[in-house]
Amino acid sequence: MSLELKEVSRTFNGTPAINNISFRTKSGEIVGLLGTSGCGKSTILRSIAGLDTRYYGEITINQKRTKGIQASIGYIFQEPRLLPWLNVMENVTFGLTGKKINKKQRGLDYLKSVGLSQKEKLYPKQLSGGMAQRVAIARALVTSPEILLLDEPFSALDAFTKMQLQDLLLSIWSKYQTTMVLVTHDIDEALFLCDRILILRGQPGTVSAEIVLEQSKPRLRGSQ
Ligand code: ADP
Ligand code: ADP
Repeated sequence: MSLELKEVSRTFNGTPAINNISFRTKSGEIVGLLGTSGCGKSTILRSIAGLDTRYYGEITINQKRTKGIQASIGYIFQEPRLLPWLNVMENVTFGLTGKKINKKQRGLDYLKSVGLSQKEKLYPKQLSGGMAQRVAIARALVTSPEILLLDEPFSALDAFTKMQLQDLLLSIWSKYQTTMVLVTHDIDEALFLCDRILILRGQPGTVSAEIVLEQSKPRLRGSQ
């Protein structure tokens, strides 16, 4: 799925958070969004997902203008944001709708693809940070989103777990070719995972963000 932002701006109480942001992703591309804290990265992701609709400009998915929450978009946050009263399986499948779907089987399939077979009955408080984030990844993927938005998905994890989950993300990409927009502060992570990196510049509350570097790079992960 292709995604395009055309001159998207968002102001909070008169203060611009993002100003005239334009970029486009090709289908199957992984694009990194980098920039200092407060420069508007989360605001951009929230607007793409339709969690925030009070922006100016235009956001299109496959050339169609979007409005409101998008079912074709998966979202992964820095924290797993699991519901504590639901077990792993229930957390992964609660958003699944449709009579024809075998929720349990589908949940098991996606738990397997994130390396969590046999863990479906555990509750969030029984999981390590890395396991919980794997559940969040399965939950984001189980609805077969065509675009995956990731907001610093691995920054709260230890180095080893982070590497494991970066590899997991690439294996997911090779299976589904999901278009992804990845917000990260980790330049090595961006170089490893992304086809293209956009750097935003701005100061919280004062300067608006703008794209200052758009760099194409060959796929390091071509062999995956
Ligand atoms: P980043 O994700 O790059 O850290 P954000 O998108 O979270 O930046 O925030 C961009 C700017 O917009 C910041 O100055 C932030 O304080 C402001 N902002 C974000 N959300 C809100 C909100 N709901 N109300 C007021 N200001 C906000
Ligand atoms: P992130 O960790 O992704 O940068 P934040 O902690 O900046 O996210 O923001 C979390 C939530 O708080 C978001 O819904 C954002 O819109 C809101 N928010 C961020 N900055 C402000 C602000 N200055 N005033 C009010 N709400 C804000």
